[in-house]
Amino acid sequence: MLTQDGAYYSDFEAKKMICEMGRRMYMKNFVAANDGNITIKTGPNTIWATPTGVSKGFMTPDMLVKLDMKGNVLAGNRKPSSEIKMHLRVYEENPGVKAVTHAHPPVATSFAIAGIDLDQAVSPEAVVILGTVPVAPYATPGTQEVPDSIAPYCKDYNAVLLANHGALTWGKDIIEAYYRLESLEHYALMLMYSNRIIEQANELNCNQVSDLIAIRKKMGIHSGGTPGCKSERKEMTSKKQQPLFASEADKEQLIQQIVAKVTEQVLQKLQLKG
Ligand SMILES: [Zn+2]
Repeated sequence: MLTQDGAYYSDFEAKKMICEMGRRMYMKNFVAANDGNITIKTGPNTIWATPTGVSKGFMTPDMLVKLDMKGNVLAGNRKPSSEIKMHLRVYEENPGVKAVTHAHPPVATSFAIAGIDLDQAVSPEAVVILGTVPVAPYATPGTQEVPDSIAPYCKDYNAVLLANHGALTWGKDIIEAYYRLESLEHYALMLMYSNRIIEQANELNCNQVSDLIAIRKKMGIHSGGTPGCKSERKEMTSKKQQPLFASEADKEQLIQQIVAKVTEQVLQKLQLKG
């Protein structure tokens, strides 16, 4: 069922996998009604895509649409979703991508609405599997602005949040792309619970983060960005604080001035007594 790295799915497998992943997306509450879309690349110039106006939870292979990389329909009776434009842009920007998913998972979408990047190092799995997730600027759904807004992130990251809209993930195959969608919502949920409900999120330190980045590289994943880590953040805040003394010499000078002043006062008092 799964492809080797670099291999394409057959038409039959691609259609079957899109229906299966659509069902999972719907059951996990990542989409409501007819939201969301999924594509799989089946050759250098072809993809299978979900159609417009259909719930992703109830798709059958005959509903799907085959397109070329310009968005022309090659097979299928239905119209592809207008959001397929952003999938095509991911394939164009990153030739290693073989599948793309788009959904509106509620917690991650709330971060997208708030304009908050998912970039805190709190979960090893999120660092390795997903990486950091930036928020792309808002773009009107269905327009050319949407693919333009996500283009800068397609090579260096594995997922992006669309401001006030939802999430987009990609991978070397549909399993990887779909797992990144699951990880993204899970990560967003943990960030929300720890930061906003428990109100304590212990971040991983820089050594722990660099170990995870090394593991990720060993797994052949060179994208995903690097989350901020504990000592970096500490350094950043301590740099902002004004030092009490500009240098050791300044400190020494001040002490000498104080000593001189105290000595003077003591001598004055002794002279008064005398
Ligand atoms: Zn959408």
